[in-house]
Amino acid sequence: MFSNKYSFIRWVFFGMALIALMGITYMNIHYVNQVRESTKESIIEKKREQIRTFANQVRSRFLDVPREIWNADIEELKTSIDKSGQLPESLNPLLQKIASDSLYSGIYFHSAETTPCESGTGTWEFSKELNRFVWVNAFPDVVCDGMSLARTRMKVLLSEYKWNTKTTFDTHRSMNIAIVYPNEHRILGYLVVLINYDYLLDNYLKKEIESVFPTESGLFTIWIHDWVTNRVLLTNNANETFERDKIQIVDRFPGLFDNWNIVGSVNSTVSASDVEVQTTKNLIILALTVALLLTSLVFIIYSAQKEQEISIRQSEFLSNVTHELKTPLAVIQAAGENIKDGRVKNPERLHYYGKHIYDEAIRLKTMIERLLDVARFDSNQIKASPQQIFVNQKIEEIIERELPFLQSKGFEPQLSLGAGNLTAWADLGHFETILTNLIENSVKYSSDRKFLKISSAVTSTMVQISVEDHGNGIPKSSIPHIFEKFYRVEDTLTAHTKGHGLGLSIVKQMVNINGGKIRVESEYEKGSIFTFELPLADNRTSSQKKTRKEQTQAHYVTNTAESVV
Ligand code: ADP
Repeated sequence: MFSNKYSFIRWVFFGMALIALMGITYMNIHYVNQVRESTKESIIEKKREQIRTFANQVRSRFLDVPREIWNADIEELKTSIDKSGQLPESLNPLLQKIASDSLYSGIYFHSAETTPCESGTGTWEFSKELNRFVWVNAFPDVVCDGMSLARTRMKVLLSEYKWNTKTTFDTHRSMNIAIVYPNEHRILGYLVVLINYDYLLDNYLKKEIESVFPTESGLFTIWIHDWVTNRVLLTNNANETFERDKIQIVDRFPGLFDNWNIVGSVNSTVSASDVEVQTTKNLIILALTVALLLTSLVFIIYSAQKEQEISIRQSEFLSNVTHELKTPLAVIQAAGENIKDGRVKNPERLHYYGKHIYDEAIRLKTMIERLLDVARFDSNQIKASPQQIFVNQKIEEIIERELPFLQSKGFEPQLSLGAGNLTAWADLGHFETILTNLIENSVKYSSDRKFLKISSAVTSTMVQISVEDHGNGIPKSSIPHIFEKFYRVEDTLTAHTKGHGLGLSIVKQMVNINGGKIRVESEYEKGSIFTFELPLADNRTSSQKKTRKEQTQAHYVTNTAESVV
């Protein structure tokens, strides 16, 4: 009941830990994704800001011209234009400056009274060499276009307009400045500055882009894209192809070059690569942590179950021990009582009771010794003191010693000893105990078919010794348990045979501490073969030598010569 409660609580905790693990995993993945996104987002945001600054810088480069006109004396402008249809000479320095600037390819002026395009007449063109406007009859169409555009724009604005200039760009072709006399809401004239397209792109913008968005970072690609013709005019990274899917930023030159977009792409493979690596690392660590935690949880559950099993086995062990000790004591007590009370006078009966007491006392003694052996094994007090054992010779000695007993039980032991010098590296006392126990078990658990064969053989590293009988055999279901403490097969023959179920458990532990293994092949009602193997003396490793050194130093406590009766 109590343990059920704990087992329930354990499972509840296990479930909660699992849920917590899944929660942590989810949170981590979510967080990592967020970081990745925000990192990319923050790069994009930074670049967007840079593009804006870049576009304003370009704009400011052009607007230097109208700014100077804006600062000029409007009354003087008005007087000059009204009088001569020309700009005043005071603007000549500015016009010279424009004429010397490679960004521009021509300066034209026309008063607002007539337009060169409508009248078909000429217009004023600034001559750098003459440092004045000269009347020209032939001029490029773009001058006309620019003036018409500025005029159209001003038509809408004029009634409200408070400033003396209004600049309009005819895409990348011209910058057109309408000179306004705001007091009378009237346009005085139009100054058209043609833009040098080649210089603008191949020189000015190219250099600007290279300085603001250097190619070598590879992090960010910028394109100047003409959306009308769908052509890329400039880029900072010629290796990156212009594809719509890559675009994360689209901006314009505000009020300038209407046909052009500034398009940007944060190169995700490069920019996010650090984050990707970190993400992968995090996920691996997370997976390992989860795996570790799961393993520990499973282990905790497993070990708790094992502990439970052990505690059940311990209480079974205790009741078994109590039972095993009480039975012979009860017999001794009863027999002793009968003798003490003088109820048994007949010498034969007296002998019978005496033998009974003696047999049970021996059984008790053996039992106590077995129990002490088990306790010593459990507390690791039994150590092996290995030495060279000439296995065949030792088998023959033991059989010779046991022969009277074996023959009295109807056995004629057969030996099948392997050729060569079979030398095992093991504790001699343990070797004798193991072999005698197995032989005596064969005798105990054989009824009609009296067959006993002891064989020896050698593998590359081990010496194998087998004890075969044609006795009772062991049921398949019992085979995994026969080496457990107090385990006895539940059948009639075993029930009629005296024993404590401790012999094979001790045998197994002894084989183990000598670096060997034991196995059994058995068929119920046919017979059994117990085979144990011990390390070959010639093949023993340096570690075994070391073990030996350590073991000879340890104290050696065991009653090895006794066998299970
Ligand atoms: P014990 O002989 O004192 O009962 P053991 O530990 O030596 O205890 O053996 C455990 C059980 O294994 C025995 O009770 C018996 O049922 C079974 N057993 C052992 N050896 C043999 C054998 N050679 N043939 C058949 N059964 C055996």
